[in-house]
Amino acid sequence: MRLTTVGTGTAAPVADRVQAGHLVECGPVRMLLDCGSGVSFRLAALGIDWTTITHVALTHFHADHVLDVPTMLTAWRYGMLPPRSAPLEIIGPAGTATLVDRLTDALGISWREYGFPVTIREMPPGERLVVADGVVLESRSVPHTAESVAYLIEGPGRRVVYSGDTGFDDGFAHWAAGCDVLLIECSLPESMAIPTHLTPQQVATIATIASPGLLALTHLYPPLEKVDVPAAIAAHHAGPVVVCHDGWSTEL
Ligand SMILES: [Zn+2]
Ligand SMILES: [Zn+2]
Repeated sequence: MRLTTVGTGTAAPVADRVQAGHLVECGPVRMLLDCGSGVSFRLAALGIDWTTITHVALTHFHADHVLDVPTMLTAWRYGMLPPRSAPLEIIGPAGTATLVDRLTDALGISWREYGFPVTIREMPPGERLVVADGVVLESRSVPHTAESVAYLIEGPGRRVVYSGDTGFDDGFAHWAAGCDVLLIECSLPESMAIPTHLTPQQVATIATIASPGLLALTHLYPPLEKVDVPAAIAAHHAGPVVVCHDGWSTEL
């Protein structure tokens, strides 16, 4: 299994972080977790084959996690020769079909009309979805927006958890326990703490409960860039930590 953080940014445009998007590759599965603005072009800049992505799994409907869905659909239809014929599955919480309907209808072409088979699967939190032989996706509600979920991706002997956007939730930490990589949002410094995002100290508290093989941080707002985040985490959690950048990648 390989995890690549394609976009580690937020709603704030900055030079070196595009919006949220992470690629999990496991056997025949090439799944994009979130697809915010800039993810499509960052995939290309990183030399990642965007033509053969098989799934897009959305954590919630904030613009910084979904805006490149129509960009990718358009790329697969008009940006490839020959155009894509392979099926695509878009996965997300209840409301995903309505969201994709609205995004694509607004641009004058329904997601049903891109010329390749698109399936939208709304996945109730707690359901375990067999994505392919030996690859399972599970979701869990997290405190951010009403629909927000985190994802657990299981491959042969390996587990990755992606928090999406979330506030502090020790239930999430217990759910993530023992994963190989905990890819978790770390949005704001302690002085700017809010209930719907995480600070380094809150991330450390979650990591102490979950005890992941590797703690991988994403979704950094600009004020956090002024903080020594690994030191702030290390003050409360002893395990390995990496502040991801666009293009960071690990083989599990
Ligand atoms: Zn976000
Ligand atoms: Zn959000």
